[in-house]
Amino acid sequence: SSKIKVGIVGYGNLGRGVVSAIGQNPDMELVGIFTRRDPAAFASEQGLSFFRISDAESFQGKIDVMILCGGSATDLPEQGPEFAKLFNTVDSFDTHAKIPEYFERVNDAAVTAGTIAVISTGWDPGLFSINRLMAESILSEGTDYTFWGKGVSQGHSDAIRRVAGVKGGVQYTVPSEEVINRIRGGETPELSTRDKHIRDCYVVAEEGADQDKIRQEIVSMPNYFSDYDTTVTFISEEELRRDHSEMPHGGFVIRSGVTGKNTRQIIEYSLKLESNPEFTASVLTAYARAAHRLAGEGAKGAKTVFDIAPGYLSPKSPEQLRKELL
Ligand code: NDP
Repeated sequence: SSKIKVGIVGYGNLGRGVVSAIGQNPDMELVGIFTRRDPAAFASEQGLSFFRISDAESFQGKIDVMILCGGSATDLPEQGPEFAKLFNTVDSFDTHAKIPEYFERVNDAAVTAGTIAVISTGWDPGLFSINRLMAESILSEGTDYTFWGKGVSQGHSDAIRRVAGVKGGVQYTVPSEEVINRIRGGETPELSTRDKHIRDCYVVAEEGADQDKIRQEIVSMPNYFSDYDTTVTFISEEELRRDHSEMPHGGFVIRSGVTGKNTRQIIEYSLKLESNPEFTASVLTAYARAAHRLAGEGAKGAKTVFDIAPGYLSPKSPEQLRKELL
């Protein structure tokens, strides 16, 4: 068929999201999922083909784009350059400070192999990055703000769970509504970390544990909570399961600038996501289409969202896009 043949590397939250996103895009088909775990463990997953990650190489020529769904901390630094040697790839590497170095490593692999590797796409980095760039380029005199949430932060949730006496817990990053409204109203405040976000923790304590001590340890934890206004609410295991098992997220990119004689101009982009991984997976899938198109034109090397024209994301032809969406 003429469909774009897609492979998935890594079957976590994002990997599952990509399966469902491919199902919503009739111009794509899923060839297989490659995992470091025993593929037999996924025998009950109807209609999906699982393979050992070490067998991926034999799929060269049978897969147009590999979507890399590993974690940014330890998986992608290895898998990004490795897979760029074999396939066109797309990933969501999100350790902002390390993106330049990661780009170089993946670019070397992709240029040598003649593949395209779209790195660090998703929403931040990704859609938020595009919006920061556009806003800054258009309103050259201005102030930028990025707020995250309301959403679950995996790192902060893990930090709570390491506190003695804590059985389970989840942390929501919540942007300050008051501050956002001031910016929307035309103010350009200088904001400290504490001003921008609050951190709401929902904690299940072990039986007999000292709740005040747990609360104190959480709110004073350096790097994670001490620079923020943090609330700690104790809940039951049942409530944690019932009310806090989703992975919502989102946020705002705002630039407040001036043109002419102090004419205020405000650009705002926002996302409100019930599922962070399902949404991120949908972004990756659209960029897989772009990677396939670019590869077809003979392009090679690592690319970020800044390098890819928006029309490449769409299954529609340029003529159709000009007619319908311009
Ligand atoms: P997961 O932890 O769910 O999955 C990461 C990897 O861990 C998988 O590829 C899988 O590899 C392995 N794994 C998953 N579940 C299990 C399990 N039960 N037991 C053992 N191994 C498992 O991470 P996410 O999918 O939630 O996120 C991946 C990355 O996406 C994040 O690290 C983050 O950096 C990035 N991200 C980027 C965003 C952006 O906007 N740019 C937004 C959201 C996320 P294998 O199958 O090989 O075992």
